[in-house]
Amino acid sequence: LTYFNRNGFYRYSKLGKCHYVNGHPVSRSSRSPTPITPDPVLVRFPEIRSGECSTACYVNPNARCPSCGAPVFYYQNESGSRVFFDELGPPWLKHPCMDKVASAWSTVEQVRFSAPQARSTNDISLIADWQATHNVDPISIFRSRFGRNPWKLATILKRIKSGASIYLVMKGVDASQQKKVYASCDALPRCCHEGFCVALGRRKLSFFNTSTMMTKKVGIKRFRNAATFIDAMTSSKMSGQE
Ligand SMILES: [Zn+2]
Repeated sequence: LTYFNRNGFYRYSKLGKCHYVNGHPVSRSSRSPTPITPDPVLVRFPEIRSGECSTACYVNPNARCPSCGAPVFYYQNESGSRVFFDELGPPWLKHPCMDKVASAWSTVEQVRFSAPQARSTNDISLIADWQATHNVDPISIFRSRFGRNPWKLATILKRIKSGASIYLVMKGVDASQQKKVYASCDALPRCCHEGFCVALGRRKLSFFNTSTMMTKKVGIKRFRNAATFIDAMTSSKMSGQE
């Protein structure tokens, strides 16, 4: 008999319900095939194995579900409200355990909160390479579930108030095209500060408002490049001073 430890992993039922199986020791007769050395990428990022979570390719899960242990994307506000998501961006899939075991949430330690953050470029490419090699395609899984592509995720790099508008420089999180996106909008909650992660539609931003604890969509105007962005910002400032 040989013994080894199996790492935690996701298990999906036929109905598509997901739960996280914690790592556990396994014994096997020596006739069974030799257990494969754990894949170092999966040891670091167990949440990417199934491809069921497209957000996990780009954003670090910042908490674990206190009920099933699955990595989740977590927000909280000052009054202690909390929410766990399986995906960031529309349709903002809440983690299923939230409804089942509301009482478990009160036992979550009040930790110093930081909103979900994009992974490093290095980790994003590592994950993309692993998924390409193993034919795990989170975008097509998302498409088959929701009938469309997920919104692109982006990090706010700069937030500038000029005239009556707010100007944003954002960076897409895809490893292949971390292009800067220049946009403006009329109003934006304070939680959308530099470093905050948002979902980017063609003419809209979608994000989780940590004051109201609700998802929100805001219309944006996009600019083709930095030059047109700066032009618009400068002229809005001048018209604001008149
Ligand atoms: Zn859970």
